[in-house]
Formats: sequence, C-alpha cells, structure tokens
Amino acid sequence: PVVLGIESSCDETGAGIVRDGKLLAHVVASSMDEHARFGGVVPEIAARAHLHSFNPVVRQALDQAGLRVGQIDAVAVTTGPGLSGALQVGLAGAKSLAYAAGVPLYGVHHLAGHVAADTLEHGPLPEPCVVLIVSGGHTSLLLVRDLVREPILHLGDTLDDAAGECFDKVARILGLPYPGGPAIDRAARDGDAKAVAFPRPLTRPGNDPFAFSFSGLKTAAARWVEQHRLRGEEPSVADGAAALQEAVADVLTRKALAACRAHDVRTLIVVGGVAANSRVRALAEERCAAAGVELRVPPMTLCTDNGAMIAAVGDLLVRSGAEPAPLNVSIDPSAPLEYASLTPLPAPT
Ligand code: ATP
Ligand code: MG
Ligand code: FE
Repeated sequence: PVVLGIESSCDETGAGIVRDGKLLAHVVASSMDEHARFGGVVPEIAARAHLHSFNPVVRQALDQAGLRVGQIDAVAVTTGPGLSGALQVGLAGAKSLAYAAGVPLYGVHHLAGHVAADTLEHGPLPEPCVVLIVSGGHTSLLLVRDLVREPILHLGDTLDDAAGECFDKVARILGLPYPGGPAIDRAARDGDAKAVAFPRPLTRPGNDPFAFSFSGLKTAAARWVEQHRLRGEEPSVADGAAALQEAVADVLTRKALAACRAHDVRTLIVVGGVAANSRVRALAEERCAAAGVELRVPPMTLCTDNGAMIAAVGDLLVRSGAEPAPLNVSIDPSAPLEYASLTPLPAPT
C-alpha cells in the first residue's frame, strides 16, 4: 500500500510517503528557530507553525513521490504522545485528507514511529530486537517482537530527565545555543572527555540495570561550572561538553548491551534524536562489535521527528490487517507506549 504519514507532536511538521516498506517522500518543516529565543519549545507557537506548514509540507511530499492525493491508500498520523495543540493540528489535517480521499486513517504512537524509522533504511526489524529510544522527551530500553502485533515490552525507562533533555539543559548551563544536543556534539570535538569525571548514574551493582537517570548529570555540570567561577576561572566549554557526552554515551550503550545480553538478542536498534550524537554512535558501534551484536541506527534525518517514520508504521499496520481508527479518534498527549497503533489489531488466528 501507499501510505501518507503525518507527524506534528512537537516542533516538526512532517509528511512522508512509504510504499511497501520503501521510502518515497520525506519532508519536514521545523519551527525550531521560532523557539530558540525562549530556550525551549513554546506549545502555542508550535501549534500555529503546524497550521502554517501542514498544506505545503503535504503538497511537497506528494510532489516528491510523484503522486496525487487520490493515489494514497491510507493516512497514518501521530496521535500521541506530544504537545496537545500540536497533535490536534496534525490529526485534524490527517482526518480531512483521509476523509477527502476516502481512505482509512491509522493512529500511530510517536515512539513506535521512531522505532520504525530504521526499517526505511535497513529493512524489516529482526525479531526480537532491543531498541534504545533516546529523544528529547524519552529514554527507554524496549524489547520489540512484532512491532504492530505484539505489545512492546519496556525493559527500563528514565526515572527523571530524558537523555536529550540532559543535553539541552547542560548546553544551557555551558552557555551553548538551543537545541543543546547538536551544540554539545560540535563543542565536544575540541574537548577532552577525561577532563571532568562526571557520574555514571544507576550503574552500581544493585541498581536497576535498565533504568536511567540523567538529572544528576545536570546538577554535576552546574556544580562543575560554579566551582570554576568561584576560583575566578572560566571552565572549558569543550571539555565540559566532551565529558558530558562521554558520560551519557557510556551509560546508554552499557545498559543497552546489558539488555541484549540478558534477553539473548542479536540486534540493537538506536533511534530518536540523540541517536544522531556522534559519540553515542561511535561507542555503540565499538561495544556492539565487541559483543557480537548487530547495530542498526537510522540516518540522522530519520532519527529526528518526521512523517516518514509514521508512514512506516502505517504501512506495517495496513499490511498486518489492522483495524483503522474511527474518524472521531482523538489525541492522547501522554499515550504510554504499549502498542504501536491506538487501534486494535484482529486477534491472531
Ligand atoms: P520525543 O520523541 O521524546 O517526543 P522529541 O521529538 O523532541 O522528543 P527528537 O526530535 O527525537 O525528540 O530529538 C530531539 C532531541 O535530540 C533534542 O533533545 C536534541 O538536543 C537531541 N539531539 C539532536 N541531535 C543531537 C546530537 N547530535 N547529540 C545529542 N543530542 C542531540
Ligand atoms: Mg523535535
Ligand atoms: Fe520524537
């Protein structure tokens, strides 16, 4: 089937088109620049930006694929989790398109989209696989069997901040621009990761092996900066960035590989915005190679929020015979990740 995917959970308006697992179009408009001076995403501005970008982005995606609306077989849309106003705009647009084209609508969980993004680059997910989701709002280790048929098992989640949130907050402490993740990645290139001994939260024996905690790193970074200033010195931003990045990458990859070992899984998939981090990628590669685990990381443009990943889930849902969503389906800003779709699948026969 040809599936149009719509994403609008945060500050990216994304439209993507997937046909039988193949990526045909991938267009994203971001309102990131409009939020930069506030140091974070402003929900009202994000919602208005989606309203502004929805039509042009969908139009561009159709042009890219060389298709007309009438050639779409289904529309998939993020129904949660995310910012309420932002989700509403995408859902209203997706409903209108589905209704106008007379095709079914599928509600998709945003994080299942992040997982499915990898299939557009590397093909179907091996079963089972361990997925490390590291984004601005989430940090979770998942055991994924059949993404659209079986419940997704949470091995562990963050107890406080997400990894991306940690990058963003520490960047602010170091005086780096928003969004912090890419800024820290760049600054770290000239830094010495060993210059600061940042903690490795929840890695002691007896700690939950798959749970994460990143709020302590933010505090440690703030204290480190403060100690320098009390001595009348300015800390090296490059060193701070490199050491922070090393601490986060170390904890993420250590726990992800422990999860693969514990569940005898041969494939690790790393997705979400923080999967774009160069040190996270390098360390994951190194440790997976040493453990004989295959590592799959989608290309950067598919790691951050986009509509193609939502189309990828929609395509899987259509092909597995999932029930479409009713046209009165609603958003769920805090949807827990258990099923990829918010609509039930037929019972296995
Ligand atoms: P969620 O998917 O949980 O709802 P989100 O959609 O905001 O959150 P993404 O768009 O997947 O998250 O990722 C954005 C996050 O990724 C931001 O926190 C950003 O700082 C971080 N990020 C992006 N590039 C990098 C990088 N190179 N290094 C570290 N972090 C990065
Ligand atoms: Mg984003
Ligand atoms: Fe996301």
